[in-house]
Amino acid sequence: MNNAADIWKSVYRVMKEELQISSTTLETWFDDMRGAKFENNILTLVTGAEFKKDVVLRIHTDTVKKALFILFSKEIGFEILTEPEFEGYIAPETPNFSNYDEYSFEKFVVGASNKFAHAAAKAVASAPGTSYNPLLIHGGSGLGKTHLLYAIAGTIKKNNPKAKITYIKSEDFTNELIAAIQSGTRNEFREKYRNSDILLVDDIQFIAGKDSTQEEFFHTFNALHEAHRQIVLTSDRPPKEMAKLEERLKTRFEWGLLADIEPPDFETRMAIISLKADLINLKLTTEQKELIANNVTANVRQLEGAVHKLLAYRDLLADVDGMQAAERAIRDIFAENPWINPTPEFIIKAVAKYFELEYEDIIGKDRSAKMVEPRKIAMYMVRNMTNESYPKMGKIFNRDHTTIKYSVDTLEELLKTDNELKEQIKDVKNSVLTP
Ligand code: ADP
Ligand code: MG
Repeated sequence: MNNAADIWKSVYRVMKEELQISSTTLETWFDDMRGAKFENNILTLVTGAEFKKDVVLRIHTDTVKKALFILFSKEIGFEILTEPEFEGYIAPETPNFSNYDEYSFEKFVVGASNKFAHAAAKAVASAPGTSYNPLLIHGGSGLGKTHLLYAIAGTIKKNNPKAKITYIKSEDFTNELIAAIQSGTRNEFREKYRNSDILLVDDIQFIAGKDSTQEEFFHTFNALHEAHRQIVLTSDRPPKEMAKLEERLKTRFEWGLLADIEPPDFETRMAIISLKADLINLKLTTEQKELIANNVTANVRQLEGAVHKLLAYRDLLADVDGMQAAERAIRDIFAENPWINPTPEFIIKAVAKYFELEYEDIIGKDRSAKMVEPRKIAMYMVRNMTNESYPKMGKIFNRDHTTIKYSVDTLEELLKTDNELKEQIKDVKNSVLTP
């Protein structure tokens, strides 16, 4: 037994027969994996789906390690790569865009928040170099900028397989430039960029403040622009908010079209969740989708993460209606991203659960001590973990807003001296934030 494919087959068999891993789990997570390489006591597995890699690493690492140990009687490491990673397609300058079907226009959900950027991207993709040059797409993290950049590249490649498309992250542009200067190959570096038909630069904000990169990019930009070659840039903010960006670059970035992407509204979030679930053959109920859409609001990457987690938890929890899995996926997202503000409803539910009460108990009228304390804590938590105003909180808690303010103020006062309460609040908070 020496080649990676055979080793993997044996690992699979050990997981099934000796570790008694269920066939559902094996089929869901391991069936499409292959052993691709075995070197230096590390087994490299390759999978077609990025999310499977995430889930297996997160949940099944111990199982795979155990199986390897049983086979070899010593510790063997393993890694999982996606198909493009394994093939080296993710080399910075030249991704193989035919492999990026995932990031196509077809798989981009259009809503009010992104329709302008989407339309601009499509226009550029169908007639590069003629409409908007440059096109600069800006917006927060995880809102689809790179997705659109790849979609442009994929479309142009399809329409014109010979087009020379250069995709680069601006940090890689900087690193490559530094390497070229050190090895005396600056001319080759220049040639490569200036020979591109299409230049796509992701996250251009990182060149701000870097003198030689800005200088080089300025000349690259001019050369391409004069030759009517399409330039598309993405950035986390508009040029005027890039304080350390040279004026002459700022001006040029504004020559063409600036298109911003905003966080998606509720309807768009629902549509994105549906699409992402379809892509992995996951059936979700409307309630599950709404639970995610109501709670994960700021970032599409996290929406996608919640959908992928749901697939993992669905198998793990095997619960009747799947709502437990959905809530857990959301809590996971919050736990990983504590800066996301959970909604008041979600916090109240978590507080109720912590005290073994119901949501209705917290917002209800019962004034027994068993209810009053948790209620105060819930009010305090909502006030502290969200940006809700007192009047809005009054509506949520069915009370006058002055009552709420009074409760929050007294609890805050108490917290200054009562360490036990402080700990308890921390616990409750953790129960909101951790699965
Ligand atoms: P950014 O570059 O703005 O940080 P990405 O383009 O990497 O964001 O998007 C993050 C994830 O969200 C990707 O998996 C992408 O496919 C997905 N995504 C973002 N916007 C949309 C959308 N409108 N429709 C479908 N998927 C989207
Ligand atoms: Mg990006």
